[in-house]
Amino acid sequence: MLSSKKALVIFSGGQDSTTCLLQAIRDYGVHNVSAITFQYGQRHGIELDKSKWIAEKLGVAQTFIDTSVIKAVTHSALTDASATIEHNDGEPYPNSIVEGRNALFLLLAGCHAKENGITDIIIGVCETDFSGYPDCRDVFIKSMNVTLNLAMDYKFNVITPLMYLTKAETWALADQMGQLEFIREYTHTCYEGVDGGCGQCPSCQLREQGLATYLTEKSQASINI
Ligand code: ZN
Repeated sequence: MLSSKKALVIFSGGQDSTTCLLQAIRDYGVHNVSAITFQYGQRHGIELDKSKWIAEKLGVAQTFIDTSVIKAVTHSALTDASATIEHNDGEPYPNSIVEGRNALFLLLAGCHAKENGITDIIIGVCETDFSGYPDCRDVFIKSMNVTLNLAMDYKFNVITPLMYLTKAETWALADQMGQLEFIREYTHTCYEGVDGGCGQCPSCQLREQGLATYLTEKSQASINI
């Protein structure tokens, strides 16, 4: 159902945010959707290049915001090319965490949205395949939504379409929209910055396991029919 409401999608060019962008285009209409992309010293510029290519391909206006200042105040393997990305390994969070990232992103997205008369902010965070990131939890997003409303005296609606989906269900959503191959081919999710995915890093493993699970379930469902 198309509406005249506008939406701003926090967009990295990865599987999750691209799924959210495609869903927003379906629900709001392409001319009511814009994307905001944050540069914060990601290890590899390829992620930003992919996001730019996808936004252009889909005909969505994209704004880039430099948030690399975050590197001056917190350390993360995701922004440090010399660090090895590890998954948990006894620590409460993976060392790829960028502390406070989604709070910063949502604050800046809120400023940009209000400036442009947009109330709906869409972010592809998910607590089901929980990596241990506290700022991906639903409780944080709801709290931040209230904070933004109070900070700017504006009725923001922070929407998280993937919050309770598994990775396999996110692939299913893409497939329902007829976009599975688009996302499989064009999105970039690898922590190591390998085009097409390294297949080894936690991000690649989560993505590939989710896809394998979904495709297996889909083929079994078609057999059962
Ligand atoms: Zn990888």
